[in-house]
Amino acid sequence: MTELPPTAECVIIGGGVVGGSLAYHLARAGMRPLLLERGEFGAGSTSRGAGGVRQQFSTEINVRIGMLSRRLLEHFEEEVGATADLREIGYLFVASDAMQMEQFERNVAMQHRVGLSEVRLLGRDDIAELVPQLTVDDLHGGTFCPTDGLAGPNEVTAGYVNAARRHGAQVVDGTCVEAIERDGDAVTGVVAAGCRIASPMVVNCAGPYAAAVAAMAAVEVPVKPFRRHLFLTESFALEREPPMTVDMRTSFYFHPEGDGLMLGMSDPAEPSSFDTNVDWGFLEHLVEHATHRLPVLERARIRTGWAGLYEVSPDHQAIVGESEVAGFWLCCGFSGHGFMQAPAVGRLLAAELTGAGSEIDLTSFAPDRFARGAGSPEAAVI
Ligand SMILES: Cc1cc2nc3c(=O)[nH]c(=O)nc-3n(C[C@H](O)[C@H](O)[C@H](O)COP(=O)(O)OP(=O)(O)OC[C@H]3O[C@@H](n4cnc5c(N)ncnc54)[C@H](O)[C@@H]3O)c2cc1C
Repeated sequence: MTELPPTAECVIIGGGVVGGSLAYHLARAGMRPLLLERGEFGAGSTSRGAGGVRQQFSTEINVRIGMLSRRLLEHFEEEVGATADLREIGYLFVASDAMQMEQFERNVAMQHRVGLSEVRLLGRDDIAELVPQLTVDDLHGGTFCPTDGLAGPNEVTAGYVNAARRHGAQVVDGTCVEAIERDGDAVTGVVAAGCRIASPMVVNCAGPYAAAVAAMAAVEVPVKPFRRHLFLTESFALEREPPMTVDMRTSFYFHPEGDGLMLGMSDPAEPSSFDTNVDWGFLEHLVEHATHRLPVLERARIRTGWAGLYEVSPDHQAIVGESEVAGFWLCCGFSGHGFMQAPAVGRLLAAELTGAGSEIDLTSFAPDRFARGAGSPEAAVI
C-alpha cells in the first residue's frame, strides 16, 4: 500500500478525468499535488460517458472552454505523451420546432462572435446530405460544427494521471477521503485511510459525489446525481460515417462506435439518485424516438447497455472556484459536460491556484452565483 505523506501543497479529491487533468496541470506548473481516488482512476462517471467533445454551447464561457479543450486534445499526444483518441466527426444538432431553431440562430451568432467560425446553420437539405437516413420532413433546421467530435475518456484520464505522476504529483488510488479538516473559516487538511494529511488547499473533484465531499467541510454544494443510459448496437454501418447527431426535442443522440452505433437519450422523469442499474424498460422508450428520427435503426440489434451518473448543477454549468471556506476549492457540477471540459478547466484552475491567472474568465462558474441569483443556464444540454 502506498504511504500517504503527512503534508501536501494541494490535495485533490477524486481521480476521474477532472481530478486527473487538474493534477497534471498543477504538477506541470511546478506544484506537487496529492491526488486521492477511493476506487480506480477514471472508473466513476468518466468511464460511463459517450466521449463527446463539442464547442457548440449556448453560453459564451462554455464555447470558450470547448474551444480550448479541443485545442488541448488536438495536441494531447505531443504534450501529455499518450493518445486522446480524438475523432473529429463533427456534431450535428437538429431542431423540430421554431423556438429551438431560433435558439440555434442565437447560439451560432454568439459562437461566431467568440471565434468558432466553422460552425454553421443548416437547412433540411443540408441535413439530409450529411445523414441521408435521417427523417427530416419535420425539421426546421440544424447546426453543424465539423471540428466537434469524440475522444476516449479512458485514454485521456490515464494520460493525465500518468503524466501528472511523471511531473511530480503523488497519485494514489484505493484511498477514500473520510474527513476534511478546518480551522475556523480555513481548510487545514484531510483525513484519508485513517491518516491525517495537512494541506492549505483541498480541491473537490468528486463528480456526482461532490455534495457529500463538500459536506465534510460543512459546505453546501448544489450538485445532484442523475442516471443516464447508453446503448450500443451490434455491427451496424450507415453508408457514410455520420457525425454525432442530436435531436434536441427528445435529446435522442447517436454516433458511430466501433462497428456499431452508440445510442443515448435523457429521461426528464428520472429522479435524482445514485442508481446505475440499467432500466431496460427505458430502452423501449428510446427506440420509439430513435426509429422515428433514424428509421433504419429498426434493423439494429442492441449488443449492450449501461448507465452512469450525470452530476447536475441548478443552471447546468460547472461550479469552479473557492468556496466560502478559504483554501477549499470546488471543481464539479459539470452537468454531463465534464469529459469535454476537463482539459481546459484543469488547466485554467491550475493557473488560478498557482497564481498565474486564468486565460478565460471563470466568474460565470463561481460557486456563490446561486446565492447571488446570478446563474445563467446553459441551454444546449443533452
Ligand atoms: C451516460 C453518460 C454519458 C456522458 N457523455 C458525455 C459526453 O459525451 N461528453 C462529456 O463531456 N461528458 C459526458 N458525460 C459526463 C462525464 O462523464 C462527466 O461529466 C465526467 O466524467 C465527470 O468527471 P469527474 O472526474 O468530475 O467525475 P468522476 O469520473 O465520477 O470522478 C470522481 C471521482 O471521485 C471519486 N470520489 C468520490 N468521493 C471520494 C472520496 N471521498 N475520496 C476519494 N475519492 C472520491 C470517485 O470514486 C470518482 O472516481 C456523460 C456521463 C454519462 C453518465
